[in-house]
Amino acid sequence: MHKNFKNNEKVCYGRGAFGNLESILSEQRNGGFFVFVVDHYFQGKELEQRLPATADDVVRFIDVDPHEPTTDQIDALRDEILASKGIPAGIIGIGGGSIMDIAKATSLMFTNEGSSTLYQGLNLIKKPGIYHLGVPTISGTGAEVSMTAVLTGPEKKLGLKCDWTVFNQVILDPELIATVPTDKWFYTGMDTYIHCVESENGILNNAFSHAYAEQAMKLCRDVYLNDAAGQTAENDDKLMVASLMGGLSLTYSEVGVCHALSYGLSKILETKHCYANCIAFQHLGDYYPQGVAEFNKMIQKHQIVLPQGLSKEWTDETITAMAKVAYNLPHMWRHAIGEDWQQKLSLQDIEALYRRM
Ligand code: NAD
Ligand code: ZN
Repeated sequence: MHKNFKNNEKVCYGRGAFGNLESILSEQRNGGFFVFVVDHYFQGKELEQRLPATADDVVRFIDVDPHEPTTDQIDALRDEILASKGIPAGIIGIGGGSIMDIAKATSLMFTNEGSSTLYQGLNLIKKPGIYHLGVPTISGTGAEVSMTAVLTGPEKKLGLKCDWTVFNQVILDPELIATVPTDKWFYTGMDTYIHCVESENGILNNAFSHAYAEQAMKLCRDVYLNDAAGQTAENDDKLMVASLMGGLSLTYSEVGVCHALSYGLSKILETKHCYANCIAFQHLGDYYPQGVAEFNKMIQKHQIVLPQGLSKEWTDETITAMAKVAYNLPHMWRHAIGEDWQQKLSLQDIEALYRRM
């Protein structure tokens, strides 16, 4: 069967688009209450005053820096709200990939019983979730458009992946990403760039995924490489669109070597997704020569310093553990290397890729 993916139902884009949140939500309230999960960066900032929350709504500011979203965190949030107030009319996630994944996952867990660990994987969710709306405040992961909500559980780091995961509505307001610090702006934006490079370079690439990747990469070059590169309003407008298009490109194709290695780094060493991608990608010139060359120019242009010689600190056990995580992502290797990837690549070869870092 060909890929058959659901897209966001509604997208509202443009400077100041966040101002539409109240009227958009008013159509969904139906006498109920909403849950707002908001990146803690915005606590005490102007955006807090602009939240269209009533006294009956629940507003939670969440610090996403200690760890990426976990199954325990989602279960606890769901249980607590159900016990105190019952089922909400909807959940709104305002933040980066972490907050958007929390909103997506919790929306599903309000209607699906038991722990979210039961549903990590493809199409394991039994019932549609509640209404969920995403507002990205940092751009690059494509979480605003993807059909997965990535969670770290006791056994695996894997998404709740199904048609119902996709947001009912997203609001893309480039004004909201203006305050992102330069290092995070770079790492998260590079997730988009790497999504495109990997989507393009593999057997699943097709005219549909290519069209999105080509455009998203062009936008990334404006934002990170060309003469007018940098954190400007015009570039923020572009980056927000690039993130969405990069996400769509990989949805219709696949990610590859860098993401497979990145998953190993995240699972075993808890390295953040976008940063882990950057750590791995710089060493993959033999797989993605053009992409890595351009990436290195962007690194120089923005004076980003990535750690070197990390693998010297890693034990053989750590490297093997990461390589096993990566090896267990056959869809990525198959896309990047071909149907016969297992003949071309061994666990030891993947360990050698980690030893480059
Ligand atoms: P994030 O949500 O982890 O946030 C990164 C940092 O940026 C945090 O410190 C946050 O406080 C800060 N921040 C966010 N917006 C800000 C703003 N406007 N101003 C100042 N600071 C701001 O960032 P991310 O890189 O977007 O997301 C990474 C997460 O996304 C990981 O958990 C990863 O697993 C997940 N992910 C999901 C998908 C998907 O398809 N669902 C894809 C890739 C990654
Ligand atoms: Zn990614």
